[in-house]
Amino acid sequence: AKDAGRNRVYYFNYEMKEQFEKELLLEQGLQKALEKNELMLHFQPQFDLHSGKTTRIEALIRWNHPEWGMVSPDEFIPVAEKAGRIREIGYWVIDKALESIKGLSKEYPDLERVAINVSALQLRDKEFTRNVKKLLDKYRLSPGKLEMEVTESVFMDRVEESIKILTELKTLGVEIALDDFGTGFSSLSYLRVLPLHRVKIDRVFVSQIETDQKMLSLVGSIIEMAHGLGFETVAEGVETAAQLKLLSESNIDTVQGYYYSRPLAIGVLREFLSNEKTV
Ligand code: C2E
Ligand code: CA
Ligand code: CA
Ligand code: CA
Repeated sequence: AKDAGRNRVYYFNYEMKEQFEKELLLEQGLQKALEKNELMLHFQPQFDLHSGKTTRIEALIRWNHPEWGMVSPDEFIPVAEKAGRIREIGYWVIDKALESIKGLSKEYPDLERVAINVSALQLRDKEFTRNVKKLLDKYRLSPGKLEMEVTESVFMDRVEESIKILTELKTLGVEIALDDFGTGFSSLSYLRVLPLHRVKIDRVFVSQIETDQKMLSLVGSIIEMAHGLGFETVAEGVETAAQLKLLSESNIDTVQGYYYSRPLAIGVLREFLSNEKTV
């Protein structure tokens, strides 16, 4: 009891109270963000090393608050999840991403699809596949124009349920990527049973391949294993020419990162794609 008391004092220290108040403010702000048009999407190109083209873009949500400025999704997405607003925001993201790829893929035929980030909670929605299909129909888009990035957290609990919904989506023709691969705690054997098209190797791994021979070897093995299972591979967070070279030598299929391009507002993305030269 004494320990519990001490823990409570520790828990309600000044920083935690600030954090709590901050989350409350973010939660209240989020309620208005959608109506007030404060949310938007930026897009980061994914460069396909086989074709030498940007074949996909990842949609990353941005919140431009009138007073606070840009709020990071790492800060407000967890708050949206806790506050039960992630489904609403999630559908908004899909709608906007599809609207954008509709126009872009007409202008840039090399661009195959847009990838969006999907939270585990969104897959708890029994109507998810149906609603995604409705949005695809709204824009008269083939399901192959859409990719969903899910993290290993999706498979932490309710594994069967998540696999079922992802299988529905894959059957519909939506592509599935396993995001942040290597950072979770799941065992490797589950990779066999997941309905995936590709795995994205986490930035933390990529950032160490230049200086750590063992990390390079590990990343090489992940790529080989993924290929062996029939998946494509994407490296995220590629920031240097040396990283690109090492990844390319390790047979990576696609790279994404600041070296190639930061996430861009749609107007800037159009310029980027127009100026794209074959490397
Ligand atoms: P993520 O899906 O792993 O996205 C990659 C993050 O790394 C992005 O941060 C991106 O801007 C950043 N990044 C890209 N290239 C580089 C690089 O070369 N170096 C470094 N240091 N960083 C790079 P961002 O946009 O702040 O997003 C953070 C996270 O927020 C995302 O991580 C994702 O988990 C989440 N998120 C973003 N948009 C959405 C969304 O629409 N829905 C949901 N549920 N989550 C989202
Ligand atoms: Ca992602
Ligand atoms: Ca990622
Ligand atoms: Ca991440």
